[in-house]
Amino acid sequence: MIENKKQIAILGSTGSIGTQALEVIEENSELFEVYAITANNQVDLLINQARKFQPEVVAIANESHYNKLKESLSDLPIKIFAGNEAIAQVAEMQAIDMVLTAMVGYSGLKPTIKAIEAGKKIALANKETLVVAGELICDLVEKHKSAILPVDSEHSAIFQCLTGEGNNPIEKLILTASGGPFRTKNLTELQHVTSAQALKHPNWDMGAKITIDSASMMNKGFEIIEAKWLFGVSPEQIDVVVHPQSIIHSMVQFADGSIKAQLGLPDMKLPIQYAFTYPDRLKTNFPRLDFNICTQFTFEQPDTERFRNLAFAYYAMEKGGNMPCILNAANEIVVAEFLKDKIGFLQMSDIMEEVMAKAHFVAKPTYDDYVATDEAVRALTASFIR
Ligand code: MN
Repeated sequence: MIENKKQIAILGSTGSIGTQALEVIEENSELFEVYAITANNQVDLLINQARKFQPEVVAIANESHYNKLKESLSDLPIKIFAGNEAIAQVAEMQAIDMVLTAMVGYSGLKPTIKAIEAGKKIALANKETLVVAGELICDLVEKHKSAILPVDSEHSAIFQCLTGEGNNPIEKLILTASGGPFRTKNLTELQHVTSAQALKHPNWDMGAKITIDSASMMNKGFEIIEAKWLFGVSPEQIDVVVHPQSIIHSMVQFADGSIKAQLGLPDMKLPIQYAFTYPDRLKTNFPRLDFNICTQFTFEQPDTERFRNLAFAYYAMEKGGNMPCILNAANEIVVAEFLKDKIGFLQMSDIMEEVMAKAHFVAKPTYDDYVATDEAVRALTASFIR
Protein backbone atom coordinates (compact mmCIF):
# COMPACT_ATOMS: atom_id res chain seq x y z
CA MET A 1 0.00 0.00 0.00
CA ILE A 2 1.50 3.31 -1.10
CA GLU A 3 1.00 6.29 1.18
CA ASN A 4 -1.20 9.22 0.10
CA LYS A 5 -3.06 7.42 -2.64
CA LYS A 6 -6.73 7.58 -1.76
CA GLN A 7 -7.73 4.16 -0.38
CA ILE A 8 -11.13 3.19 -1.71
CA ALA A 9 -13.48 0.40 -0.68
CA ILE A 10 -16.11 -0.58 -3.23
CA LEU A 11 -19.14 -2.28 -1.74
CA GLY A 12 -20.85 -3.93 -4.71
CA SER A 13 -17.84 -4.05 -7.02
CA THR A 14 -19.37 -6.52 -9.50
CA GLY A 15 -22.41 -4.38 -10.34
CA SER A 16 -22.75 -1.70 -12.97
CA ILE A 17 -21.49 1.17 -10.74
CA GLY A 18 -18.81 -1.02 -9.14
CA THR A 19 -17.25 -2.12 -12.43
CA GLN A 20 -17.27 1.45 -13.75
CA ALA A 21 -15.69 2.69 -10.51
CA LEU A 22 -12.87 0.18 -11.01
CA GLU A 23 -12.35 1.59 -14.51
CA VAL A 24 -12.10 5.10 -13.04
CA ILE A 25 -9.54 3.87 -10.51
CA GLU A 26 -7.57 2.02 -13.19
CA GLU A 27 -7.44 5.15 -15.36
CA ASN A 28 -6.18 7.18 -12.38
CA SER A 29 -4.00 4.65 -10.61
CA GLU A 30 -1.56 7.37 -9.52
CA LEU A 31 -4.33 8.83 -7.32
CA PHE A 32 -6.47 5.92 -6.17
CA GLU A 33 -5.98 2.46 -4.81
CA VAL A 34 -8.55 -0.28 -4.29
CA TYR A 35 -8.35 -1.28 -0.64
CA ALA A 36 -11.40 -3.56 -0.53
CA ILE A 37 -14.00 -4.98 -2.87
CA THR A 38 -17.18 -6.78 -1.91
CA ALA A 39 -19.94 -8.50 -3.85
CA ASN A 40 -23.20 -10.23 -3.14
CA ASN A 41 -23.08 -13.30 -5.39
CA GLN A 42 -20.92 -12.88 -8.48
CA VAL A 43 -17.91 -14.79 -7.22
CA ASP A 44 -16.16 -15.35 -10.58
CA LEU A 45 -16.10 -11.67 -11.47
CA LEU A 46 -15.03 -10.82 -7.91
CA ILE A 47 -12.08 -13.22 -8.25
CA ASN A 48 -11.04 -11.62 -11.56
CA GLN A 49 -11.26 -8.15 -10.04
CA ALA A 50 -9.22 -9.25 -7.02
CA ARG A 51 -6.47 -10.69 -9.23
CA LYS A 52 -6.35 -7.55 -11.29
CA PHE A 53 -6.51 -4.88 -8.55
CA GLN A 54 -4.89 -6.84 -5.70
CA PRO A 55 -6.85 -5.21 -2.87
CA GLU A 56 -6.04 -5.90 0.78
CA VAL A 57 -9.50 -7.28 1.45
CA VAL A 58 -12.17 -9.13 -0.53
CA ALA A 59 -15.56 -10.13 0.85
CA ILE A 60 -18.62 -11.89 -0.50
CA ALA A 61 -22.06 -11.70 1.11
CA ASN A 62 -23.20 -15.16 0.03
CA GLU A 63 -21.22 -17.45 2.35
CA SER A 64 -21.59 -20.48 0.09
CA HIS A 65 -18.98 -18.91 -2.21
CA TYR A 66 -16.39 -18.51 0.55
CA ASN A 67 -14.33 -21.64 -0.18
CA LYS A 68 -14.14 -20.98 -3.90
CA LEU A 69 -13.10 -17.37 -3.28
CA LYS A 70 -10.49 -18.39 -0.71
CA GLU A 71 -8.98 -21.13 -2.86
CA SER A 72 -8.93 -19.08 -6.03
CA LEU A 73 -6.97 -16.30 -4.36
CA SER A 74 -4.79 -18.46 -2.10
CA ASP A 75 -1.58 -17.45 -3.94
CA LEU A 76 -2.18 -13.77 -3.15
CA PRO A 77 -1.80 -11.93 0.19
CA ILE A 78 -5.49 -10.95 0.29
CA LYS A 79 -7.73 -11.24 3.35
CA ILE A 80 -10.93 -13.07 2.45
CA PHE A 81 -14.24 -12.74 4.30
CA ALA A 82 -17.83 -13.87 3.78
CA GLY A 83 -21.27 -12.89 5.08
CA ASN A 84 -23.20 -9.66 5.53
CA GLU A 85 -21.61 -8.98 8.92
CA ALA A 86 -18.16 -9.18 7.35
CA ILE A 87 -19.12 -6.64 4.69
CA ALA A 88 -20.25 -4.21 7.38
CA GLN A 89 -16.90 -4.75 9.13
CA VAL A 90 -14.93 -4.17 5.93
CA ALA A 91 -16.63 -0.77 5.60
CA GLU A 92 -15.07 0.45 8.86
CA MET A 93 -11.49 -0.74 8.31
CA GLN A 94 -8.93 1.77 9.44
CA ALA A 95 -6.94 2.36 6.25
CA ILE A 96 -9.96 3.19 4.10
CA ASP A 97 -10.48 6.84 3.10
CA MET A 98 -13.65 6.52 1.09
CA VAL A 99 -16.38 3.91 0.77
CA LEU A 100 -18.33 3.66 -2.46
CA THR A 101 -21.70 2.13 -1.60
CA ALA A 102 -22.82 0.50 -4.83
CA MET A 103 -24.76 -2.49 -3.61
CA VAL A 104 -28.44 -3.01 -4.42
CA GLY A 105 -31.27 -1.97 -2.13
CA TYR A 106 -31.73 -2.22 1.63
CA SER A 107 -28.55 -4.29 2.04
CA GLY A 108 -26.61 -1.01 1.80
CA LEU A 109 -27.96 0.38 5.06
CA LYS A 110 -25.87 -1.39 7.68
CA PRO A 111 -22.45 -1.16 6.00
CA THR A 112 -23.09 2.52 5.23
CA ILE A 113 -23.88 3.18 8.90
CA LYS A 114 -20.68 1.36 9.95
CA ALA A 115 -18.60 3.37 7.47
CA ILE A 116 -20.09 6.68 8.66
CA GLU A 117 -19.51 5.75 12.30
CA ALA A 118 -15.88 5.06 11.42
CA GLY A 119 -15.66 8.57 9.94
CA LYS A 120 -15.25 7.45 6.32
CA LYS A 121 -16.31 9.64 3.45
CA ILE A 122 -19.17 7.99 1.56
CA ALA A 123 -19.52 8.04 -2.21
CA LEU A 124 -23.19 7.17 -2.21
CA ALA A 125 -24.61 5.21 -5.11
CA ASN A 126 -26.94 3.11 -2.96
CA LYS A 127 -29.84 5.59 -2.74
CA GLU A 128 -32.01 3.13 -0.81
CA THR A 129 -29.90 3.87 2.29
CA LEU A 130 -31.18 7.46 2.31
CA VAL A 131 -34.69 6.44 1.27
CA VAL A 132 -35.00 3.96 4.14
CA ALA A 133 -33.26 5.88 6.92
CA GLY A 134 -32.38 9.38 5.70
CA GLU A 135 -32.84 11.12 9.02
CA LEU A 136 -30.74 8.58 10.93
CA ILE A 137 -27.99 8.71 8.29
CA CYS A 138 -27.85 12.52 8.25
CA ASP A 139 -27.63 12.64 12.06
CA LEU A 140 -24.78 10.12 12.00
CA VAL A 141 -22.91 12.01 9.28
CA GLU A 142 -23.03 15.15 11.42
CA LYS A 143 -22.11 13.36 14.63
CA HIS A 144 -19.11 11.54 13.14
CA LYS A 145 -17.97 14.38 10.86
CA SER A 146 -18.33 12.16 7.83
CA ALA A 147 -19.57 13.38 4.44
CA ILE A 148 -21.74 12.00 1.68
CA LEU A 149 -20.70 12.64 -1.91
CA PRO A 150 -23.53 11.79 -4.29
CA VAL A 151 -22.87 9.38 -7.16
CA ASP A 152 -26.44 9.26 -8.49
CA SER A 153 -26.21 11.34 -11.70
CA GLU A 154 -29.06 13.72 -10.78
CA HIS A 155 -27.68 14.39 -7.32
CA SER A 156 -24.15 14.76 -8.62
CA ALA A 157 -25.53 17.33 -11.07
CA ILE A 158 -27.20 19.27 -8.23
CA PHE A 159 -24.05 18.98 -6.11
CA GLN A 160 -22.00 20.39 -9.00
CA CYS A 161 -24.50 23.25 -9.46
CA LEU A 162 -24.25 24.08 -5.75
CA THR A 163 -20.45 24.11 -5.69
CA GLY A 164 -19.29 27.69 -5.25
CA GLU A 165 -22.72 28.91 -4.12
CA GLY A 166 -21.75 29.19 -0.45
CA ASN A 167 -24.86 29.67 1.67
CA ASN A 168 -27.09 30.88 -1.16
CA PRO A 169 -30.43 29.25 -0.38
CA ILE A 170 -31.98 26.79 -2.81
CA GLU A 171 -35.41 27.83 -4.06
CA LYS A 172 -36.05 24.64 -5.95
CA LEU A 173 -34.38 21.45 -7.13
CA ILE A 174 -35.45 20.23 -10.55
CA LEU A 175 -34.70 16.54 -11.03
CA THR A 176 -34.70 15.39 -14.62
CA ALA A 177 -36.10 11.98 -15.57
CA SER A 178 -35.65 10.16 -18.85
CA GLY A 179 -39.18 8.76 -18.60
CA GLY A 180 -37.79 5.27 -19.22
CA PRO A 181 -38.83 2.78 -21.90
CA PHE A 182 -42.59 3.19 -21.24
CA ARG A 183 -42.80 6.97 -21.33
CA THR A 184 -45.28 7.03 -24.22
CA LYS A 185 -47.30 3.91 -23.34
CA ASN A 186 -50.92 4.29 -22.19
CA LEU A 187 -52.45 2.45 -19.23
CA THR A 188 -53.85 -0.39 -21.37
CA GLU A 189 -50.45 -0.96 -22.95
CA LEU A 190 -48.76 -0.80 -19.54
CA GLN A 191 -50.95 -3.69 -18.36
CA HIS A 192 -49.20 -5.99 -20.80
CA VAL A 193 -45.56 -4.89 -20.75
CA THR A 194 -43.04 -7.56 -19.74
CA SER A 195 -39.90 -7.44 -17.62
CA ALA A 196 -37.81 -8.00 -20.77
CA GLN A 197 -39.27 -4.81 -22.27
CA ALA A 198 -38.73 -2.93 -19.02
CA LEU A 199 -35.08 -3.99 -18.96
CA LYS A 200 -34.38 -2.08 -22.20
CA HIS A 201 -33.66 1.42 -20.93
CA PRO A 202 -33.29 3.99 -23.74
CA ASN A 203 -30.33 5.97 -22.33
CA TRP A 204 -28.69 4.32 -19.33
CA ASP A 205 -27.15 0.87 -19.01
CA MET A 206 -27.72 -0.21 -15.39
CA GLY A 207 -28.42 -3.20 -13.16
CA ALA A 208 -31.77 -5.03 -13.35
CA LYS A 209 -33.38 -3.65 -10.17
CA ILE A 210 -32.70 0.01 -10.93
CA THR A 211 -33.72 -0.46 -14.57
CA ILE A 212 -37.16 -1.72 -13.48
CA ASP A 213 -37.33 1.14 -10.95
CA SER A 214 -36.60 3.53 -13.83
CA ALA A 215 -39.35 2.06 -16.00
CA SER A 216 -41.85 2.37 -13.13
CA MET A 217 -40.59 5.82 -12.06
CA MET A 218 -39.96 4.38 -8.59
CA ASN A 219 -36.33 5.32 -9.13
CA LYS A 220 -37.28 8.97 -9.62
CA GLY A 221 -39.50 8.77 -6.55
CA PHE A 222 -36.59 7.46 -4.50
CA GLU A 223 -34.37 10.18 -5.93
CA ILE A 224 -36.78 12.84 -4.64
CA ILE A 225 -36.40 11.41 -1.14
CA GLU A 226 -32.64 11.10 -1.64
CA ALA A 227 -32.49 14.78 -2.67
CA LYS A 228 -34.47 15.89 0.37
CA TRP A 229 -31.88 14.38 2.71
CA LEU A 230 -28.76 15.22 0.71
CA PHE A 231 -29.63 18.87 0.20
CA GLY A 232 -31.87 19.62 3.19
CA VAL A 233 -34.88 20.87 1.23
CA SER A 234 -38.59 20.33 1.81
CA PRO A 235 -40.78 18.16 -0.47
CA GLU A 236 -42.44 21.22 -2.09
CA GLN A 237 -39.02 22.38 -3.21
CA ILE A 238 -38.39 19.31 -5.36
CA ASP A 239 -39.81 19.11 -8.88
CA VAL A 240 -39.45 16.42 -11.51
CA VAL A 241 -39.36 17.15 -15.22
CA VAL A 242 -39.20 14.48 -17.90
CA HIS A 243 -36.31 15.14 -20.29
CA PRO A 244 -36.07 12.15 -22.63
CA GLN A 245 -32.60 12.99 -24.01
CA SER A 246 -30.94 12.56 -20.57
CA ILE A 247 -28.40 15.30 -21.29
CA ILE A 248 -29.40 17.74 -18.55
CA HIS A 249 -28.75 15.66 -15.44
CA SER A 250 -30.63 18.00 -13.06
CA MET A 251 -30.97 21.67 -12.12
CA VAL A 252 -31.02 24.08 -9.20
CA GLN A 253 -33.15 27.22 -9.05
CA PHE A 254 -31.89 29.97 -6.74
CA ALA A 255 -33.65 32.84 -4.93
CA ASP A 256 -33.13 35.25 -7.83
CA GLY A 257 -34.83 32.84 -10.25
CA SER A 258 -31.58 31.82 -11.91
CA ILE A 259 -31.40 28.14 -12.85
CA LYS A 260 -28.12 26.25 -13.07
CA ALA A 261 -27.92 22.92 -14.87
CA GLN A 262 -25.24 20.29 -15.31
CA LEU A 263 -25.05 18.68 -18.74
CA GLY A 264 -23.19 15.81 -20.31
CA LEU A 265 -23.59 12.54 -22.15
CA PRO A 266 -25.14 9.85 -19.93
CA ASP A 267 -22.04 8.20 -18.43
CA MET A 268 -21.87 7.21 -14.77
CA LYS A 269 -18.08 7.33 -14.76
CA LEU A 270 -18.24 11.11 -14.53
CA PRO A 271 -20.28 11.32 -11.29
CA ILE A 272 -18.25 8.43 -9.84
CA GLN A 273 -15.00 10.24 -10.57
CA TYR A 274 -16.33 13.57 -9.30
CA ALA A 275 -17.27 11.95 -5.98
CA PHE A 276 -13.72 10.54 -5.77
CA THR A 277 -11.96 13.81 -6.63
CA TYR A 278 -14.30 16.56 -5.31
CA PRO A 279 -13.67 19.50 -5.29
CA ASP A 280 -11.15 18.87 -8.08
CA ARG A 281 -11.97 17.90 -11.63
CA LEU A 282 -9.73 15.43 -13.43
CA LYS A 283 -9.17 15.37 -17.14
CA THR A 284 -10.98 12.49 -18.82
CA ASN A 285 -11.18 11.08 -22.33
CA PHE A 286 -14.92 10.35 -22.03
CA PRO A 287 -16.86 11.18 -25.23
CA ARG A 288 -17.90 14.85 -25.30
CA LEU A 289 -21.38 16.21 -25.87
CA ASP A 290 -21.66 17.34 -29.51
CA PHE A 291 -24.28 20.00 -30.20
CA ASN A 292 -24.15 19.10 -33.89
CA ILE A 293 -25.71 15.76 -32.97
CA CYS A 294 -27.70 16.79 -29.92
CA THR A 295 -29.89 19.47 -31.49
CA GLN A 296 -33.04 19.27 -29.42
CA PHE A 297 -33.89 19.30 -25.72
CA THR A 298 -37.49 18.51 -24.84
CA PHE A 299 -39.38 18.57 -21.54
CA GLU A 300 -42.65 17.04 -20.32
CA GLN A 301 -44.50 16.94 -17.03
CA PRO A 302 -44.42 13.51 -15.36
CA ASP A 303 -47.75 11.67 -15.43
CA THR A 304 -48.58 10.36 -11.95
CA GLU A 305 -51.74 8.62 -13.20
CA ARG A 306 -49.74 6.22 -15.34
CA PHE A 307 -46.71 6.26 -13.03
CA ARG A 308 -48.24 6.24 -9.56
CA ASN A 309 -44.97 5.44 -7.80
CA LEU A 310 -43.92 9.03 -8.08
CA ALA A 311 -46.99 10.06 -6.06
CA PHE A 312 -46.25 7.27 -3.56
CA ALA A 313 -42.79 8.71 -2.99
CA TYR A 314 -44.15 12.21 -2.29
CA TYR A 315 -46.72 10.68 0.06
CA ALA A 316 -44.07 8.64 1.90
CA MET A 317 -41.78 11.65 2.18
CA GLU A 318 -44.56 13.88 3.61
CA LYS A 319 -45.68 11.15 6.00
CA GLY A 320 -42.11 10.54 7.18
CA GLY A 321 -41.28 8.03 9.93
CA ASN A 322 -40.83 4.53 8.56
CA MET A 323 -43.14 5.12 5.54
CA PRO A 324 -40.28 5.47 3.02
CA CYS A 325 -38.79 2.27 4.50
CA ILE A 326 -42.17 0.56 3.98
CA LEU A 327 -42.30 1.76 0.37
CA ASN A 328 -38.74 0.59 -0.29
CA ALA A 329 -39.25 -2.90 1.15
CA ALA A 330 -42.52 -3.38 -0.74
CA ASN A 331 -40.83 -2.20 -3.92
CA GLU A 332 -37.91 -4.62 -3.56
CA ILE A 333 -40.36 -7.52 -3.35
CA VAL A 334 -42.64 -6.46 -6.22
CA VAL A 335 -39.68 -5.74 -8.49
CA ALA A 336 -38.23 -9.21 -7.79
CA GLU A 337 -41.62 -10.77 -8.63
CA PHE A 338 -42.06 -8.65 -11.76
CA LEU A 339 -38.57 -9.69 -12.92
CA LYS A 340 -39.80 -13.30 -12.72
CA ASP A 341 -42.99 -12.24 -14.58
CA LYS A 342 -45.06 -13.42 -11.58
CA ILE A 343 -46.94 -10.10 -11.43
CA GLY A 344 -47.74 -7.42 -14.00
CA PHE A 345 -46.19 -4.00 -14.35
CA LEU A 346 -49.17 -2.04 -12.98
CA GLN A 347 -49.75 -4.61 -10.26
CA MET A 348 -46.48 -3.52 -8.69
CA SER A 349 -48.05 -0.16 -7.78
CA ASP A 350 -51.38 -1.72 -6.74
CA ILE A 351 -49.60 -3.98 -4.26
CA MET A 352 -47.37 -1.22 -2.90
CA GLU A 353 -50.40 0.98 -2.27
CA GLU A 354 -52.08 -1.77 -0.24
CA VAL A 355 -48.90 -2.45 1.71
CA MET A 356 -48.43 1.21 2.58
CA ALA A 357 -52.00 1.30 3.90
CA LYS A 358 -51.65 -1.88 6.00
CA ALA A 359 -48.06 -1.86 7.29
CA HIS A 360 -47.37 -0.79 10.87
CA PHE A 361 -46.47 2.91 10.92
CA VAL A 362 -43.77 4.21 13.27
CA ALA A 363 -43.47 8.00 13.52
CA LYS A 364 -40.01 8.15 15.12
CA PRO A 365 -38.17 5.00 14.07
CA THR A 366 -34.87 3.81 15.55
CA TYR A 367 -32.42 1.64 13.61
CA ASP A 368 -34.08 -1.47 15.08
CA ASP A 369 -37.48 -0.19 13.91
CA TYR A 370 -36.14 0.07 10.36
CA VAL A 371 -34.81 -3.48 10.53
CA ALA A 372 -38.14 -4.75 11.88
CA THR A 373 -40.13 -2.74 9.32
CA ASP A 374 -38.07 -4.06 6.42
CA GLU A 375 -38.55 -7.65 7.52
CA ALA A 376 -42.27 -7.34 8.28
CA VAL A 377 -43.06 -5.45 5.07
CA ARG A 378 -41.26 -8.00 2.90
CA ALA A 379 -43.46 -10.73 4.40
CA LEU A 380 -46.61 -8.59 4.13
CA THR A 381 -45.89 -7.80 0.46
CA ALA A 382 -45.24 -11.44 -0.34
CA SER A 383 -48.59 -12.34 1.26
CA PHE A 384 -50.37 -10.11 -1.28
CA ILE A 385 -48.66 -11.95 -4.14
CA ARG A 386 -49.14 -15.59 -3.17
MN1 MN B 1 -30.29 8.63 -11.03
